[in-house]
Amino acid sequence: MESKTEYQYEADVVIVGAGNAAMCAALAAQEQGARVIVLEKSPEKERGGNTTYTHGSIRFAYNGTPDIQAIIPDLAEEDLQVTDFGSYSEEQYYEDLCRMTNYKTDPELASILTGESFETMKWLTKHHIQFIPIYGRQAFKINGIFKFWGGMILESVGGGHGLVEALHNEASSQGVRILYGTMAIELLHGDEGIQGVRVKEKGRSKTIRAKAVVMASGGFHANVEMRTKYLGPKWDVVHTRGSRYNTGEGIQMALDIGALSAGNWSMAHAVTGDRYLPDFQEGFQRLSYPFGILVNSDGKRFLDEGADFRNYTYAKYGRLILEQKDNFAWQVFDGKVSHLLREEYKGKQVTKVKANSLEELADKMEGVDKEKFLEEMVRYNEAIDDVVPFNPNEKDGRGTKGIDVPKTNWANCIDTAPFEAYAVTCGITFTFGGLKINERAEVQNTMYQKINGLYAAGEAAGGLFYDNYPGGAGLMAGAVFGKIAGEQAAHYVKAELTAKV
Ligand SMILES: Cc1cc2nc3c(=O)[nH]c(=O)nc-3n(C[C@H](O)[C@H](O)[C@H](O)COP(=O)(O)OP(=O)(O)OC[C@H]3O[C@@H](n4cnc5c(N)ncnc54)[C@H](O)[C@@H]3O)c2cc1C
Repeated sequence: MESKTEYQYEADVVIVGAGNAAMCAALAAQEQGARVIVLEKSPEKERGGNTTYTHGSIRFAYNGTPDIQAIIPDLAEEDLQVTDFGSYSEEQYYEDLCRMTNYKTDPELASILTGESFETMKWLTKHHIQFIPIYGRQAFKINGIFKFWGGMILESVGGGHGLVEALHNEASSQGVRILYGTMAIELLHGDEGIQGVRVKEKGRSKTIRAKAVVMASGGFHANVEMRTKYLGPKWDVVHTRGSRYNTGEGIQMALDIGALSAGNWSMAHAVTGDRYLPDFQEGFQRLSYPFGILVNSDGKRFLDEGADFRNYTYAKYGRLILEQKDNFAWQVFDGKVSHLLREEYKGKQVTKVKANSLEELADKMEGVDKEKFLEEMVRYNEAIDDVVPFNPNEKDGRGTKGIDVPKTNWANCIDTAPFEAYAVTCGITFTFGGLKINERAEVQNTMYQKINGLYAAGEAAGGLFYDNYPGGAGLMAGAVFGKIAGEQAAHYVKAELTAKV
């Protein structure tokens, strides 16, 4: 039975959040003829959640250059001639998800993500979202050819800001209504399912009548209490990346009406980044570690910097720094590889020391045991198998031999001045735990039945990522399941209205 609530707004579908998953849901629902209202708790100038903070790098399955041309029809002939995009099949994508998550990923959701990724990319371009190849960060020019690695080859024009702007421009041109500074605080529901949402708009409680709600409100990485509760000790004090508005209440609201939780609640995407940068600031990450080494306060290496392409290791290496004493480490490079360092190493707010010898460098590396560090450098340099040629574009197998913490690829002696070291710490990006959804993005309850009218997508849905994560899968998951959620929500409302006539 419907409650006697007074409603200030009315819509068919309400979307909670205005990031990538939410805006894909909004576009898809509107496309199916639904009247859509998007709720965004941040002010308009901070809209876009974590999506704004991304590079817009997105991972999808494709079959060679013709598929890339289907997404970027105006790729210049001269670029095509010097680019090897390779290919990335649905099976490879699926296998990467399995491998990264130690085979814990939800097989149904993983098949949908990988199987729908290319079609969803085409759908995005139909909605005027533009992409470009990620030259420089995902491919180096070797012998005149850019050869891409790791399956993630495109990014949105203008990065995360560009993606959010393009999604919002498209949504407003399609008539989607967005309420900024409006926070969803409660789901209204009865025996038949969702009835609407209670919100706080500029401090006032209001209600929106709607038969369907898509929860696309992100995860809880910016909620210190939930971080500590679910991820454990030390996670309260980690550097916090991305949006300060992803505080988990969207997930909590659904749990409060009986939704089932899913996924890896005790793990999160966490990377290595500048030790002293304030929270929520862009430019935190330091991701060129495969070409150097990391040492802790004991001067010791503690992880395999070259275990895989950085797309496959960066999301879990933040956590390994958090496990070190005082949650810090130094990344060390020498003059042979400094030209390979990513843009983020060149900015002004970079905690960096430079020296002409390793001894001088060690003196400058705050908090590091100098003697032990110099001993570690001798051990490391002696362990390198330099018969194998160095090639940053592929897993070159140039590794170490006979040391406790091996480096599997891209191992070079650190022996050429100038030497550089960067102080890094752990920074949390987003959380893996969320709501249980099925193949139609319908939120399940604890009796394993759908909650009529409730959908979830993006970080708010759990089950895809465990322990680790393949770079670029976050935006793709948001787009694939956001689109499905929006379509399904619109169909559900249409069916409900038809049934009533
Ligand atoms: C620095 C950084 C770099 C990244 N780089 C990449 C990358 O290159 N490629 C990639 O695939 N992924 C990347 N990610 C991960 C990616 O950002 C996320 O996986 C993805 O953007 C999540 O999208 P979403 O729509 O689920 O959440 P978000 O984009 O975070 O949107 C959630 C929105 O919900 C709003 N909200 C929260 N609670 C409420 C409420 N109660 N009421 C109303 N609104 C609410 C928030 O304000 C926010 O706007 C990166 C993340 C960060 C932080």
